[in-house]
Amino acid sequence: MNVHTNIPLKNYLSMKMGGTTRFMADVTTVDELSQVITNAKTKGIPFFILGSGSNVIARDDEYTGLIIRVRIPGFEIISEDYTTVTIKLGAGEIWDEVVAQTVDKGLIGIEAMSDIPSYCGAAPVQNIGAYGQEIADTLVSLEAYDTTANQVVTLTNEECKFTYRDSIFRTEAQGRYIITSITLQLYKAAPEPPFYKGVQDYFDEHNITIYTAKAIREAVIAIRHEKLPNPVEKPNSGSFFKNAIIEQWQLDELLQDYPDAPHYEMGDGRHKVPSGWLIEQCGFKGQLLHGMRVNPANALVLINESATGYLDLSLARTEITQAVQDRFRINIEQEPLEIA
Ligand code: NAP
Repeated sequence: MNVHTNIPLKNYLSMKMGGTTRFMADVTTVDELSQVITNAKTKGIPFFILGSGSNVIARDDEYTGLIIRVRIPGFEIISEDYTTVTIKLGAGEIWDEVVAQTVDKGLIGIEAMSDIPSYCGAAPVQNIGAYGQEIADTLVSLEAYDTTANQVVTLTNEECKFTYRDSIFRTEAQGRYIITSITLQLYKAAPEPPFYKGVQDYFDEHNITIYTAKAIREAVIAIRHEKLPNPVEKPNSGSFFKNAIIEQWQLDELLQDYPDAPHYEMGDGRHKVPSGWLIEQCGFKGQLLHGMRVNPANALVLINESATGYLDLSLARTEITQAVQDRFRINIEQEPLEIA
């Protein structure tokens, strides 16, 4: 295992922004991971786990710690019966390649989460989700290196405390566990409607009436290519804001002023309001704010068009969140994690 020094982070983050990191290491086995963590802890060096860099941003000053990229491989079917298949995936497997393989096998469970730039190990951290599926629906358990106990532990789905685009890995246990593998249970079945509107619209437009995992994957890939800017050409971190989750009284207030406001029940008495809609209503869609372009096709995405650095991004973020707060009295939160 090589540890590299003074690496420019912007080369590893899809927002193409950020200073250098003092150290960076790729690990391909649990033993290497354990070794590098023990070393860092002995020397008092902080560490940060980096996946594909598509949902992480960095500041301009040097990160004085160690960036660890977990590239542990593995794709193993561990059990199968008439209706289900359980697979164990190394944290370093590329998420979309796994989705493609499971779809090829005719399995359902993760097909709507096609084309998400992620490694398998990063997927549970923010409970990735798209078009009505989230990883919490299929994840049975995961293995993680517990940096407090210095050993590999197994966490069940319940122990991960998944909520909307969140988990213990971003909240109470942030920095404690490093995911080394995930185990998913998928189904031998055909997907059933109702589908998200975007997917159903795609099926209607293309006269698709036989619903398969492959059809959903193809629809999602086509929609995402249309609505989400390619980060290679237009640097971005995907959805920059989480959708707003609001209480019933807040929704009642919102609907008094904006009867057409889109909203979806969360099933716990709260409601989801698309942040893209809130931002659009504030007039930001397509605007250039401090070098950050609010994506014309989906206001949830901020594109680094000409920002001089993190300060510009933070000014754009404040302008947007403040305007949404002033107009709707709703707080919208940043989705990408920050290296710190
Ligand atoms: P959209 O179709 O324009 O819809 C706007 C928002 O409304 C979505 O974020 C979605 O919430 C919500 N929504 C739409 N139909 C819904 C339904 N039937 N039930 C409940 N909620 C509904 O959204 P978009 O921005 O183009 O994104 C499309 C999908 O890709 C979304 O599911 C989005 O989450 C996903 N996506 C995920 C990531 C990520 O994981 N970071 C990045 C980009 C896009 P949800 O977001 O909760 O689904």
